[in-house]
Amino acid sequence: MIKKRKDIDQVVTTADFHKERLSTGQKIGVINLGCARNLVDSQEILGRLKKSGHRIVDMAHADVAIVNTCSFVADAKKESIDTIIELLELKKQGKLKKVIVAGCLAQRYGKELAEELQGIDAIVGTPSFLKNDVVDQVYLTPKHFAYVKICESCYNRCSFCAIPGIKGKFSSRKIESVLEEVKRLDKAGVKEINLIGQDITAYGVDLYREKSLARLLREMVKVTDNIQWIRLLYAFPAHVTDDLIEVMANEPKICKYIDMPLQHISDNLLLSMNRGITTEKTKKLINDMRQRIPAGSLRTTFIVGMPGETEENFEELRQYVRETRFEKMGVFVYSREEGTEAFDMAGQVSEQIKKKRLNILMREQQSISHDVQQSFVGRKLKVLIDEKEDGSEGIYLGRSEYDAPDVDGSVFVHTKRVLKSGDFVNVRITDALEYDLVGHEE
Ligand code: SF4
Repeated sequence: MIKKRKDIDQVVTTADFHKERLSTGQKIGVINLGCARNLVDSQEILGRLKKSGHRIVDMAHADVAIVNTCSFVADAKKESIDTIIELLELKKQGKLKKVIVAGCLAQRYGKELAEELQGIDAIVGTPSFLKNDVVDQVYLTPKHFAYVKICESCYNRCSFCAIPGIKGKFSSRKIESVLEEVKRLDKAGVKEINLIGQDITAYGVDLYREKSLARLLREMVKVTDNIQWIRLLYAFPAHVTDDLIEVMANEPKICKYIDMPLQHISDNLLLSMNRGITTEKTKKLINDMRQRIPAGSLRTTFIVGMPGETEENFEELRQYVRETRFEKMGVFVYSREEGTEAFDMAGQVSEQIKKKRLNILMREQQSISHDVQQSFVGRKLKVLIDEKEDGSEGIYLGRSEYDAPDVDGSVFVHTKRVLKSGDFVNVRITDALEYDLVGHEE
């Protein structure tokens, strides 16, 4: 139990914002840090506060600031702490009345935050809103796309990851509840849904005793008219089923895109990371997906410098990246997180070697990304318009199904027509930049 400091209203382990001691009618602003999963939590927090009679405003006009923090790795923690300090400074200057800290960092280090940072009014942990009632969220995304969270916490126990410890037991949302939210969004004119969760491929194992993502996707397709893209974010390789590949390959509304962190390829590391998959099975899975979804785009991430990673293991990874040619790839250096199994593992790798390996892998991917980008030149893509390019007549920014919002690149669309956010257009690609594409509407 976290100890309560006298000048802090609440230091609790779960958030129940609408019952906080905030007199009604407060002007509330939120700063969301971290991933899209946090964003959905922020949307629900705001939805509940709005229902309780508060006004949701831009941070510039807020009296009460809520910062929804992230503590996934060291950089995320630093960003969260810096943001809290900036908000406390605004409070000192009289520009804010209250500062509330929520999210993973608050959940994990609530006691330390209460002790170290003067002026925080409440510390509330990770909200657990995965109830099956559909809350009217205050959506923080543009009107044409949305994130829908289908499960909370993680079914896995990767040895390097603190998330399951922070978020608690894995739980899926009922199919009916997901469908109700999706139907509402469809009715509201949303065009693209991004399904999220720590591991969406484990969806349903708790509720239905079997992996049920493919079933959910088929049901979603049936109830949507406006929504033309359904995108899968955060798959766990050991849980990808044949049925899921089947529905991805054959259902036009499911984007031919998947974000599936592999983390490593060496058997030794996959074992010590507790990933539940071998080198051979990983390779087979990627080959199957490539064969059955030939025009697909696979985003993955790897971790370098995990305890025990030898030069040989790293070379194996480098070789795999070179051969497999992932369309999109990110690399993280291993971050030693308290409370994880890997924290005490022997063979911790020096920061210098970690950085060196990261740079080598990123360089390897650079030329692959260049070729991938060039391969789009001359192709016709269906593009969803996000916004007008600032200050440029006849140029809009959009994305193809191969680009997730906020993570991947954009398509610069040249057109003589006036377009609006949420329009779909056909674009002939004429040029490829490092991350973005350029094309003309046809
Ligand atoms: S899949 Fe592994 S790395 Fe990802 S959230 Fe779950 S435990 Fe953490």
